[in-house]
Amino acid sequence: MKVDDKVLDLAKRRGFVWGPSPNIYDGGLAGFYDWGPLGKLLKNKVENVLRKGFSSFSFWDVECPTIMPKKVWEASGHYDGLIDYVTYCTKCGSAYRVDHLIDNVEDLDPKKLKALLKKRKVKCPACKKGSFEKIEKRNLMMKTRVGLDQEAFLRPETATTTYLLYPELYRFFRTKIPFGVFQIGKVYRNEINPRQGVFRTREFTQAEAQLFILKDMVRNFDKFDDFVNEELPLMKYGAKKIQKVRLGNVIKKSYMKKEAYAFMVYVAYKLVNDMGFDSKKIRIRQHNPSELAFYADDAWDIEINTERYGWFELCGVHDRKDYDLKRHSEFSKTKMVVGGEYPTILEIAFGLERTTYALLENSLVDDKKRDWLVFEKGMAPIDVAIFPLMKREGMDDLAKEVFSELNNEFVCVYDDSGSIGRRYRRMDEVGTSFCITVDHDSLKEKDVTIREIGSMAQFRVKISEVKQIVRDLLYGALKFEELEDG
Ligand SMILES: [Zn+2]
Repeated sequence: MKVDDKVLDLAKRRGFVWGPSPNIYDGGLAGFYDWGPLGKLLKNKVENVLRKGFSSFSFWDVECPTIMPKKVWEASGHYDGLIDYVTYCTKCGSAYRVDHLIDNVEDLDPKKLKALLKKRKVKCPACKKGSFEKIEKRNLMMKTRVGLDQEAFLRPETATTTYLLYPELYRFFRTKIPFGVFQIGKVYRNEINPRQGVFRTREFTQAEAQLFILKDMVRNFDKFDDFVNEELPLMKYGAKKIQKVRLGNVIKKSYMKKEAYAFMVYVAYKLVNDMGFDSKKIRIRQHNPSELAFYADDAWDIEINTERYGWFELCGVHDRKDYDLKRHSEFSKTKMVVGGEYPTILEIAFGLERTTYALLENSLVDDKKRDWLVFEKGMAPIDVAIFPLMKREGMDDLAKEVFSELNNEFVCVYDDSGSIGRRYRRMDEVGTSFCITVDHDSLKEKDVTIREIGSMAQFRVKISEVKQIVRDLLYGALKFEELEDG
């Protein structure tokens, strides 16, 4: 099996991701997935890194409704701008996004797309016979109804709903700008033909941070100065290779124009690193100017090299300028200016499901004999597994005591079935950070064996100290090899 198939198999078998959902009804709807117990634990950990990380850079958490009236989306530009061009096979009727049928389309003009389909003689991938003639514009937003007949849409991003809070936020921050907020929540996009598994779904979770700032502040931004020595793996539009560039040189060497924007790119990159991705598989790529979203001035993506889809976007960092507040001010007739100027917005936008799945793939160890997962400490779905060597002589009772002691702080499982070797392998397969075993000696000596995944090294530690040791190991205050038997 190829690595990506192994991940898919493991994800299904061990309860990370199931779907399409709802599986028992005709195999489910394409583009919708369920997160099983271990997948949900892992997704929570990814979410925790983002929540903690954004907070540490002084962004504040907010939550808005997922349904908004049509007028909001007319103002935001999504009503006219969030569209795909769709075409149908003349023989079998299968629907496709035009940009999925022809590679390297730079210009999304429908007339030119139609000409390209004809010129390149594109045949239907499904029936291999039909061709394509008509091109239709389809909006990606899902429509719903509020009350009896008010037209409304499920949000296609959290960002817009955050912007609508601007007048309240401005007062909350006591009219001091810049300020930052973030929102983590569900969004919906009616993809025509989602075919990239959990990497492209119709319902997904975004974690989006917004920095509200004025024009004269973006080029000279205090927080930028604190990280000038950090290196970023940048790939400028048109470049063939990744360049390691110090944040301090990003502006000087004109990779980016604004210090505040470069700071946001650094924040996004740091958070991806904190999750434990292999640094060789991370790059920061600038968008092709024609690829830019309708609101963006500059955009760089944090991308991960995946087995299945190659380089794939986990996070986008967008310079939205004053576009959003200007539009919402006009459409809502609400004042949103500071000193006659609309604040600029710089945005970090993460997709949580694709990040979680990419982390799963990134963590697979394929050593020919078996497949198992090794996560960055603190990121594994299960922190600790506790085993009694045997279910007798009080070993099970003592193991249960250790379990309840640890389970109120860490994610723990108790397992007493099968041989110790089998139990280790079950836990290794899902990446459990530590296994603790209670044996005969534990009863006399009041100690246990603690084993680390990855190195498979073991030490004996006192039961009275085990909780603090696990805490230090998980949060990086202690390395496993620094432990001593005792
Ligand atoms: Zn066809």
